[in-house]
Amino acid sequence: MATRTQSKKYIYAFGNGKADGNESMKNLLGGKGANLAEMAGHPKLRLPVPPGFTITTEVCNYFSQHKRHYPVGFSGQLTLAVKKLEQLSGKKFADFSHPLLLSIRSGARRSMPGMMETILNVGLNDEIVKGMIEQSGDMHFAYEAYRRLIIMYADVVLEKAAGIDTLLNGYGKGVRKFLEDKLEKYREKHGYKDHRQYKLREHKEIIKLFKNIIHKTLGQEFPDDPWQQLWGGIEAVFASWNGKRAVEYRKIEHIPDDWGTAVNVQVMVYGNMGEDSCTGVGFTRNPATGENKFYGEYLVNAQGEDVVAGIRTPAPINRSSANEQSNKLETLQKKMPKLYKELDGYQRRLEKHYRDMQDIEFTIEKGVLYMLQCRTGKRNGQAAIRMAVDMYREKLIDAKTALMRVSADQLQSVLLPSLTPAGERAAKVIAKGLPAGPGGASGRLVFTSSDAVQQVAAGEKVVLVREETSPEDVQGMHVASAILTTKGGMTSHAALVARGWGKCCIVGCADITINLKEKKLISREGLTLNEGDFISLNGTKGIVYEGALPLSQSGFEKNKYFHAFMELTNRFAKLNVRANAETKEDAQRALSFGAKGIGLFRTEHIFYGKGSEAPLLAMQKMILSPTPTERQRALNELFPFMKKDIRQILEIMEGNPVTFRLLDPPLHEFLPHEEDKIKTLAENTGIPLSSIQQQIQSLHETNPMLGHRGVRLAISYPEITMMQVKAIFEACAELIKKKKKILPEIMVPVTIDSHELQHQKKIIMEVHQQVCDNYKLKSIPFHFGTMIETPRAALLANELAIQSDFFSFGTNDLTQMTMGLSRDDIGSFLPEYIRQDMLPADPFAHIDTKGVGQLIESAVTKGKKVNRKLEIGVCGEHAGDPESIRFFKRSGVDYLSCSPFRVPVARLVAAQVEQ
Ligand code: PEP
Ligand code: MG
Repeated sequence: MATRTQSKKYIYAFGNGKADGNESMKNLLGGKGANLAEMAGHPKLRLPVPPGFTITTEVCNYFSQHKRHYPVGFSGQLTLAVKKLEQLSGKKFADFSHPLLLSIRSGARRSMPGMMETILNVGLNDEIVKGMIEQSGDMHFAYEAYRRLIIMYADVVLEKAAGIDTLLNGYGKGVRKFLEDKLEKYREKHGYKDHRQYKLREHKEIIKLFKNIIHKTLGQEFPDDPWQQLWGGIEAVFASWNGKRAVEYRKIEHIPDDWGTAVNVQVMVYGNMGEDSCTGVGFTRNPATGENKFYGEYLVNAQGEDVVAGIRTPAPINRSSANEQSNKLETLQKKMPKLYKELDGYQRRLEKHYRDMQDIEFTIEKGVLYMLQCRTGKRNGQAAIRMAVDMYREKLIDAKTALMRVSADQLQSVLLPSLTPAGERAAKVIAKGLPAGPGGASGRLVFTSSDAVQQVAAGEKVVLVREETSPEDVQGMHVASAILTTKGGMTSHAALVARGWGKCCIVGCADITINLKEKKLISREGLTLNEGDFISLNGTKGIVYEGALPLSQSGFEKNKYFHAFMELTNRFAKLNVRANAETKEDAQRALSFGAKGIGLFRTEHIFYGKGSEAPLLAMQKMILSPTPTERQRALNELFPFMKKDIRQILEIMEGNPVTFRLLDPPLHEFLPHEEDKIKTLAENTGIPLSSIQQQIQSLHETNPMLGHRGVRLAISYPEITMMQVKAIFEACAELIKKKKKILPEIMVPVTIDSHELQHQKKIIMEVHQQVCDNYKLKSIPFHFGTMIETPRAALLANELAIQSDFFSFGTNDLTQMTMGLSRDDIGSFLPEYIRQDMLPADPFAHIDTKGVGQLIESAVTKGKKVNRKLEIGVCGEHAGDPESIRFFKRSGVDYLSCSPFRVPVARLVAAQVEQ
């Protein structure tokens, strides 16, 4: 018998308690398809999912690569799949008597909210709509479905997928809006309140009108053949994967282009069949706060898109989901208690099954509940932390899973600023809306995504204000400091996207109206603000203020979930995290963030900022001293300031290491350059103006970053090192006498050779001895080490390691010197480099693993080879960057030292890299 070669399986069916696929097949079926299969077919779930099938992502990729053709065998599988749906539903596709209508939805591996297309009610035409009327007994409903199909089809298939731009055709708006406006005008002209007042003749007239408009504007016909509709819809979804907005979104979210999207075709169910029907969305826990309470919104007599589109204000499904705008509306729990209970049971089952918060969509059609979708719910940082901690405590997940549930960005977002209470009290409230994304932000008003992009590129902070956002706005939303919409609920596009990005966001702010043409915002009270004016948002409470209000760090210090979560990271992290800090405040903050010491104390900080006048003057005198004696006198003047600072920090950090870096910047940085300041300096020091000017000139360097700085200063002026280490040792001695546990480290900057270290060590040991003698101490324990921030230091790491207890990579300078890119001048050309993919990212933000990384890896290996005990840290900015931390871990680094506000994120990533 001849065997027929079976073509590959391109279509996976689900429904009626069975499914070909399951949750693990996301790559092939997309997230939505895989979860539909799981919900419908998993023995522990078997939820009421309308039957359907998923066309695989492989078909999408084939379609993209083969000029919009389908693989052999696909067409036959599609026919069979529809047949199966006919059997399951007892209806018939493209048939007048029992019409089967289908939905077509996209679904990529990872959810891309609103990025791609949906078409509902596929399968209707002028004849079949009659069957639909018979079946439903509701003419208005049937015609509404038909109108929706035509509008969606015209928009998605005939306009977008065909690449036709009606905007350019002189209509000023897309075909969807054009048709919707026509419908509205028709209703107004007839003096009707809603479409249920139309006569049959009028319904038909509108359909005709729609078809005519489509013909005129798009030069195409709406297809009456249901099969043509189905094929057109599938093709449009596949084409949308390469549409502009999907491509842009993928770029921002780093989603590979070759993932492709699946297409889900499902039997239609209707939430708009009257008062016993509804549609809604829910989260198994509150996605904004993380509270373990079923949270959701629903709309009676509506279709799913109505909730997401944010056109009507949805009602809460239960009391705990109510907000200021919806708390007077009837809850689903009250309106349909039995069905609510059923839904509640399903959401519990789903969360238990997936062991994570789920975002669900449901529809109730004439008293029958259907589950339309389920996926892992997006959440903001605050909610992510709380859920991870709660679920771990509830034993739903283990500690490792909890740890991985919070991303670095989410953790960072809870540390983000909020408006200060005092600032808020004094400010004028313009409006109130729904708090979709917490935190505070302020910026200049912009009304379009492109304006946002432009202004941010010009260095402004902006708040993007829209009626509602759409995927076309993502670029502007991404760059804006905050997003404000006048329409939409907590599950609207703006809310979902902002939550995903941890951005401050207020939605549904009906207190304001927007005049887009004149770029104005008008409050209910009549206040008008123009583009460029400042507003501020409290995204946690949903309040909009006039003006730019002061921001302060969020109240995470008091958030017990934050602390419990950070505790969890300690169990896994092996990389130690220290902070770069010099002031009392920073050191205390570093401790409160869980830093295990200070990895970089820049001694020069004493000359900057509050209270720096006296030490700076002493330093200036030192620099200007014509003789060693005078220089020593100036250093003696400087000494007590230095010692006081050092002692204070050591005391605060008791029991933790503190790395003091010897003086690093070139001396000219401490001298004034403006005429009047030079004069004042002459008056304050008694040194003649001309000699100061001469000295400033002589200190001038063409390339100061490669000039007389770092250890080179200490070689020229050993007395500077002497003074600094004397201050360190004396402070230590006094604390030792007070029985304080101290762990000082002395670090030499900008080293290029081991001779420099020998030179410095000799001086340090001499001072050490003197101080020990003076304080009658046997020893003052300390570590001696060097920064690795020149390529030569990295290359000669084996020689430097013999002299050192530790290395600390100064990746700022190391990047600068390895790449030959000035830290301070990169702005003028780097963006172009990144745009043209010459470099993958800003190398000062994310470590250049390819080049600089090689030096780090080899220096670690060389250093540890000659000195097994050598401790290795990183104290450049990269130590707080998640991507770079992953690299440092792989390279054998032992600790990180970053700015205090980045300590929690570094701790989290340090724990996550161990998994
Ligand atoms: C570095 O170069 O990485 C470093 C930490 O030192 P600074 O930024 O002070 O030059
Ligand atoms: Mg440096």
